[in-house]
Amino acid sequence: MDWTRGCTLGRGSSATVSIATSHLSGDIFAVKSTELSQSKLLKREQRILSTVRSAHVIEYRGWNVTCENGKQMYNLCMEYAAGGTLKQRGSLGEAAIRANTRAILQGLQYLHSNCIVHCDIKSENILITGDGLKIGDLGCARLADDFSDSVCGTPAFMAPEVARGEEQGFAADVWALGCTIIEMATGRAPWTDVSDPVSAVYRIGFSGDVPEIPGWVSEDAKDFLGKCLVRDPVQRWSVGELLGHPFVNEACVFSKEVYGSSSSSPTSVLDQRFWSSSIEELYPFHKKSWNSPRERIHFLANSNSNSGLPNWGWDENWVTVRSGSMEEPEVVSEAPTATMAWAGEDPGMVGFREPTPTAAMDSCNSLSHDCSETR
Ligand code: ADP
Ligand code: MG
Repeated sequence: MDWTRGCTLGRGSSATVSIATSHLSGDIFAVKSTELSQSKLLKREQRILSTVRSAHVIEYRGWNVTCENGKQMYNLCMEYAAGGTLKQRGSLGEAAIRANTRAILQGLQYLHSNCIVHCDIKSENILITGDGLKIGDLGCARLADDFSDSVCGTPAFMAPEVARGEEQGFAADVWALGCTIIEMATGRAPWTDVSDPVSAVYRIGFSGDVPEIPGWVSEDAKDFLGKCLVRDPVQRWSVGELLGHPFVNEACVFSKEVYGSSSSSPTSVLDQRFWSSSIEELYPFHKKSWNSPRERIHFLANSNSNSGLPNWGWDENWVTVRSGSMEEPEVVSEAPTATMAWAGEDPGMVGFREPTPTAAMDSCNSLSHDCSETR
C-alpha cells in the first residue's frame, strides 16, 4: 500500500495531522503522525479508535510505520474530514447548534455504550465530513473502568470533578458537551473572564460557579444546558436522557429548525452559507473526478482559501510513502517503506494488538535500503 503525505491539517501537542492519498485507489485520508520513539499516546489512540465503528465517530483506516527524512514515524490513518472542525465555523445559530448537539450526543451515546469516555469533547475535536459531524481526536479517550490514567483534556471544558482530580467518567463528557454548546453559541470557550488555565481549573473545581449561558438562546436550549452543567456528576443528565430532551428531539430538529424558519439568533454569513449548503456545494472537489492520484494530489496541494476548500496550512513538500512494493513510487521526493495494516484487510489489526517493534524495524530497515537506492 503506497501513499503520499500532503499538507498539514492540524497540529496538537504531540502529533501532526496531514492529508494523504493512496496511490492505488486515489482515496484521500487523514494521517496523524508522531515519531515512533514518542508514539505511546498515539498507539493508545489507535488501540481505542480501531475498536470503534460508528457513523458519528471518525472512521479508523489503519496504522503504519514509515521512514521520513531519516526518522521513523508512527502513523494513525483515518477518514478525512473535508469540512475541517466545528471550531472553524465560529458562532452558530440555534438551528445549527441543535443539529450539531444531536450529532455529538449520538457519537457520545455510541462511545459510552461501548464503555469509552472521550475525555476531550470540544468543537476543535468535532470534525465535519461529507456524511455529517463526527467525533474525532480520541487521544485522551479511555475505557471507563481503566483507572490507571491521570486526568486528560482541556481546562476550560473540564468538569468540576475532573478539575478536582476525583474522577473522569461519562458525566465529564456531558459537562464538556455543555461547554461545547456555549462555544458554538459564542464562538469562544467558556470561562472567558478567567485569564489563565490554573485559575480556570481552580474556579471550575472549587467555586460553585457554572459557565455563563448566553442570554439569547431559547428556553429549551437553556434548560438543556442546565442539565449538562450540573456541578454534581451524579445529578447531571446522562447522554441517553439528553437525547430525549426537547432541545434535540429528532422531530423538532428536522421539522422545525433545520428545514424550517431561519434562526433569529446571531449567525455569521459563513454559517448561513454552511448550513444552507450541501457539503458538495461547499467543497466542490467532492464532485471532481481525477484521472490519477497525482492529479488529485496537485489539485489539493494547490488549493487555497478562494477555492472553496478548507484553508490548509502548507508547510512541506509531498512525500511519497510506500510499503513492501519494489516498484518505483509514482511521486518521488522520498521513498520510505511502510508497514501497512488497513482496517478490513487485516483482521488481526482490529482490537488491541500493538504494532510490533520488530515489524516496524524490519520495515524501516528495508526502507533505509530503499531510500539509499533512490538517492
Ligand atoms: P490532537 O490530539 O493533537 O489535538 P487531533 O486529532 O485533534 O490532534 O488533530 C489536530 C487537528 O488536526 C484537528 O483539530 C483538526 O484540525 C485536524 N484533523 C484531525 N483529524 C482530522 C481528520 N480526520 N480530517 C481532517 N482534519 C483533521
Ligand atoms: Mg484535538
